Amino acid sequence: MRTGITPAEALRIVLEHTPVLGAETLPVPDALGRISAEPVVSTRRLPPLTNSAMDGFALRAEDCRGASAERPATLPIAFEVAAGDPGTRALPAGRAARIFTGAPLPPGSDTIVRQEDTLRRGDAVEIRIVPSRGDHVRRAGEDVEAGELVIPPGTLLSAAHVGMLASLGRSVLSVRQRPRVAILSGGDELVEPDGDVSGGRIVASNSWSLAASCRELGALPVYLGIAQDRPESLELLLRAGLASDVLVSSAGVSVGDRDYVRGVLQKLGCPLRFHGVQMKPGYPLTFGAFEGRGPLVFGLPGNPVSALVTFELFVRPALLRMAGHTRLHRPQVEATLAETLSKPPGRMHFVRVRLSREAGRVLAHPTGSQSSGVLRSVCEAQGLLHFPAEASLLRAGDTATVRVLDAGFLAADEPGF
Ligand code: AMP
Ligand code: MG
Repeated sequence: MRTGITPAEALRIVLEHTPVLGAETLPVPDALGRISAEPVVSTRRLPPLTNSAMDGFALRAEDCRGASAERPATLPIAFEVAAGDPGTRALPAGRAARIFTGAPLPPGSDTIVRQEDTLRRGDAVEIRIVPSRGDHVRRAGEDVEAGELVIPPGTLLSAAHVGMLASLGRSVLSVRQRPRVAILSGGDELVEPDGDVSGGRIVASNSWSLAASCRELGALPVYLGIAQDRPESLELLLRAGLASDVLVSSAGVSVGDRDYVRGVLQKLGCPLRFHGVQMKPGYPLTFGAFEGRGPLVFGLPGNPVSALVTFELFVRPALLRMAGHTRLHRPQVEATLAETLSKPPGRMHFVRVRLSREAGRVLAHPTGSQSSGVLRSVCEAQGLLHFPAEASLLRAGDTATVRVLDAGFLAADEPGF
């Protein structure tokens, strides 16, 4: 087992052990936000027929040569064609067909003139412009040709993809499974949110924040409960989580006499890959991965901030990879520090910051106390600022990389158009 490694090494080890999950078949509406696991090849053309993009008149462009508002070309109206008509009736030369948006182009015609560029005269129509051949015509197959690969496997499915699948007549689709994440808290001081907090007990809030973090990215949390600070109690709950894809426990991974997580994991046959990452918050982070079948195991530190930050940096990318995502990491921006920060060199710090935009720059404002127990600092944070391991001073006005947790600071009060 490695110890005292850098965050980058820790993440590399985690991802090295992270598999992509299998596929499952879902109704297309439920596939939103999932990663497709099969190529979607069209068996039809979209649009199926060449049709009109406008309400107006279908005609041959050559029948309108030299037309203008002063000297319009007058064409008798042969018939009318609406959206949903079969569109088999041919248009004779020198005639126009009244046509509506989405209606099939009559054979023989090659152009649509918009209603706005015409004048109706009883059974005839005056064309007051010179159209170009093909104007306002939507060609069959211009969106999708039969046999075309429309959605490659590995695509993050958006609302537009759901619409495309529907257009292609697909009702089900194979997608990557969502990781099931077993979550437990450990500690004699812990109670559930409605529990008795007299005598210095505290709520096992990590269970809730970590389950919510799973949901945010589409993973399925399964809550196992609170283990007491006894190896047997911990073993019972950890065993219950062995059937899941990922097991996340918080607390009990430090060096205290009652920190049993590592020992119990080893007893369960889970090889520990590292313990101790040169970062703050989150140094005690522990990671295990079974040789054959078995979940990835994350022993997160118990402090609420440490638990959330280590989830963000290590568990989140693993869950995204399992679900089939290939872009695993948050967007990063170069931000200007609003305040001076200092620390001893050695560990990398992840500083909770609020973000704002000012004169084309992104400003990072540290959110008060950076103590690992101060959950408020995460509630208010929109980013984590990377304070490099070897650095000891970042001055107000300096720039640093910030991973953006919440792009809400980019949301606007004004529509912008
Ligand atoms: P430990 O890792 O057991 O030393 O715990 C570190 C700190 O985190 C202690 O102050 C614990 O009370 C606190 N803690 C442990 N588990 C949780 C939890 N599930 N929710 C909130 N705080 C916790
Ligand atoms: Mg404890």
